[in-house]
Amino acid sequence: MLSRNAALPRIVIVGGGAGGLELATRLGRTLGAGHRAQVILVDGSPTHIWKPLLHEVATGALNTGEDEVNYFAHGYRNGYDFEFGYMQSLDQARRTIRLSAIHGRNGELLSPERDLDFDWLVMAVGAEANDFGTPGVGEHAMFLNTPADAEALRHRVLELAFRCSNGDEPGKSLNIAIVGGGATGVELAAELKHTMCELHQYGARLQPERVKISVIEGADRILAAAPESLSAYAEEQLGARQIQVLTNSLVAEVKADGVALKDGRTIPSDITVWAAGVKAPAWLARLDGLKTNRINQLQVDTQLRCEGADCIYAMGDCSAAPDGDSGRMLSATAQVAHQQARYLAEELTRRLEGKPAKAFVFKPQGMMVSLGKHSAVGSLAAVVGPKRDYHVEGRGAKLIYASLYRMHQAAVHGWTLAVLLFIGDKLRRAARPALKLH
Ligand SMILES: Cc1cc2nc3c(=O)[nH]c(=O)nc-3n(C[C@H](O)[C@H](O)[C@H](O)COP(=O)(O)OP(=O)(O)OC[C@H]3O[C@@H](n4cnc5c(N)ncnc54)[C@H](O)[C@@H]3O)c2cc1C
Repeated sequence: MLSRNAALPRIVIVGGGAGGLELATRLGRTLGAGHRAQVILVDGSPTHIWKPLLHEVATGALNTGEDEVNYFAHGYRNGYDFEFGYMQSLDQARRTIRLSAIHGRNGELLSPERDLDFDWLVMAVGAEANDFGTPGVGEHAMFLNTPADAEALRHRVLELAFRCSNGDEPGKSLNIAIVGGGATGVELAAELKHTMCELHQYGARLQPERVKISVIEGADRILAAAPESLSAYAEEQLGARQIQVLTNSLVAEVKADGVALKDGRTIPSDITVWAAGVKAPAWLARLDGLKTNRINQLQVDTQLRCEGADCIYAMGDCSAAPDGDSGRMLSATAQVAHQQARYLAEELTRRLEGKPAKAFVFKPQGMMVSLGKHSAVGSLAAVVGPKRDYHVEGRGAKLIYASLYRMHQAAVHGWTLAVLLFIGDKLRRAARPALKLH
């Protein structure tokens, strides 16, 4: 258990994801390193991978061993402490959270359940796909919620590709169904197709045309949250890669060998990935005195404070935050989490200094969706003005897309280290296979 310096206020951030890690880094470097507050990051995993890259982990294009950030080491360098464990519950009156016990690989107890007290608490535990209670999803579908999910999917894809390549059914195709035509589903489909082409180049006897990938979407177009021109371009690009796009297709049930649609069709599938919808973890709805919406997100005000709890904040995918201008809820994206981290770092500092609070205002920066190794599509309408439907595509868009991860690295490591990491990545990629195959 971390020792408490009674002279310093304690800020506890739960969840070291896209938003939480950036916040811990900013506060650690300022308040933590300046001995003005004790900053503690809590996570159930000892390492961080930027979630928008999970589709690359799932296809082996990104090696987690090389890209993950260890919280203990990162905290040491950036002025915050790391506490390893999953948050389970909250006691508002005592201002404590309870963390789960930690067990080793062989099941032995490494650390018992313990309480951690706070002066200010920031909830940043993210969200997961929403199966809307669809039968068969729990039993037969895979997910892309966590790095462990992505690794499991990578192993499954490689195993089945190997079986189709070397098994006793020559010519058998590999069917992959992705439910959800949002950014996650579209990016995964394009990346999987690219991976299969690379595998074939490496000698796998599974020709890319025998890999049949379908994206199943309930709305009338994929990327439904983006401008129509962007959806049309993405659909055309997926089509050019022989990826089947099924719109207006609602899933009735996921089965072991396919996805049954409500209109009676069945899409054959050896691997089904559920990448539709979003909901926050169910345990948030049971937290002492905090209000949640119907998808378990913590309801916050314009200063990201949880309703009815002055010293508890929530940010990122686990929060339902109103957009200052429209009053609509902000979407669950890394862009929102990043801006909220920046805002909260300033807001908590203002609060510590006794200065008046300011409201969080989201500034939309557009949207980028990767379409495999060399292509992406994005809308910059939010930047150039809503009257112009300005979209970028192809290699230029891919460069902008890739720069988003570099900006996250800069926020977490500083620009110098981010540049060194970029050079290191280029050298590694030149020396090693493009895919992690084991
Ligand atoms: C494949 C994919 C592609 C995406 N592409 C994009 C994109 O192109 N652009 C974009 O803007 N967004 C994208 N997103 C969405 C984006 O990843 C999320 O909006 C963003 O990561 C949310 O950040 P967060 O900090 O709220 O949560 P997360 O990044 O999900 O982090 C949550 C953290 O909380 C930890 N945690 C969870 N439960 C507990 C607990 N009980 N106790 C302690 N710690 C806990 C987790 O280990 C994790 O570290 C994508 C998502 C996926 C899956």
